[in-house]
Amino acid sequence: MKVVKRIPLAGPVLNGNEKKYVMDCLDTGWISSNGKYVNEFEQKFAEFCGVEHALTCANGTVALHLPLLAYEVGPGDEVIIPTFTYIATANAVKYCGATPVLVDCEPDTWNINPNLIEEKITEKTKGIIVVHLYGHPVEMGPIMEIAKKHNLFVIEDAAEAHGAEVNGKVVGSIGDVGTFSFFGNKIISTGEGGMITTNNKQLADKMRLLRGQGMDPDKRYWFNVVGYNYRMTNMQAAIGLGQLENIDWHLGKRRSVANSYINKLSQYSELFTLQPEMDWAKHSYWMVSILLKDIVKIDRDELMKLLESDGIETRPLFYPMHQMPPYYEESTFPVSDQISARGLNIPTNGVLNEEDLNYICEKLIFHCKNNIR
Ligand SMILES: *Cc1c(COP(=O)(O)O)cnc(C)c1O
Repeated sequence: MKVVKRIPLAGPVLNGNEKKYVMDCLDTGWISSNGKYVNEFEQKFAEFCGVEHALTCANGTVALHLPLLAYEVGPGDEVIIPTFTYIATANAVKYCGATPVLVDCEPDTWNINPNLIEEKITEKTKGIIVVHLYGHPVEMGPIMEIAKKHNLFVIEDAAEAHGAEVNGKVVGSIGDVGTFSFFGNKIISTGEGGMITTNNKQLADKMRLLRGQGMDPDKRYWFNVVGYNYRMTNMQAAIGLGQLENIDWHLGKRRSVANSYINKLSQYSELFTLQPEMDWAKHSYWMVSILLKDIVKIDRDELMKLLESDGIETRPLFYPMHQMPPYYEESTFPVSDQISARGLNIPTNGVLNEEDLNYICEKLIFHCKNNIR
């Protein structure tokens, strides 16, 4: 079979001032981690989320590590996370020497199930990291109530959810801290990069200190603590600012791609379902994801191979943390197991056109219909 074209799953669209701003860095020599683009990117991102403080950093993983360090999470401590997430969420806890305590997800949003959190809280629990998976936000109300009752911090891992909303409130502004990733496949990108948002000035100051090797802000080259070099460069921030200026376009384009899939696919609910958008939520559609019903007898991985031979790149949903060696646990996470085994992400990017979307849906429906029990 001859493949005429390949439709990628994801990829950045750099259609704003990105190039102009990067050239400005090169022309002026401001290529390292000081410079106006770092400051402006932080300022504009704080405005976008409606928070007081935003801190750029090297990537979305250290964006999680820094607040955990600032909260002094260490050996013996526990942090509650969903098992159904990308591994960075768990790793950041592990970097502190603490233990990630896993919680199963809800069948509808695929996010951490708030009803299963309290049974996992012990006297060692310091906080909760929630993950707005694939761009669908977590319903934050119940989470914040549990946290308040047990005196825990809440970090929103919004690496996949820039601009998603919970009852009209933008993610990253609801918990104590929000963290974002600007990896190449995320909603907006800086190549590699991350951002931390918070309204807590003391925490922001502490994270800023730790981000810059722990250098005393009032005495250069004096260090009271062991810090990290977790900074972002001015060149990355230049790209980020260009992307952020166009974020409404990026989010709008993703929503129109998602709507197009919904229009073409929702009538096939006997074959598969899409990750839904709850009525209190605004999905940011990092990835449109589908879940195969039992009636489709083909294996998820087999289906991905068939689509690959049609030139359509897809991706399995994340493997839950408890299935993998570093975080292995005998499964008591049936919902995550089920969704992970039968779900896939389908192309969601800013360059898809109607012809691509028709082609993807046609092939998807064809392969599923051909393999009914
Ligand atoms: C991408 C991602 C991260 C990590 O971001 P990097 O920039 O790749 O380090 C963290 N959490 C989630 C949920 C992610 O999807």
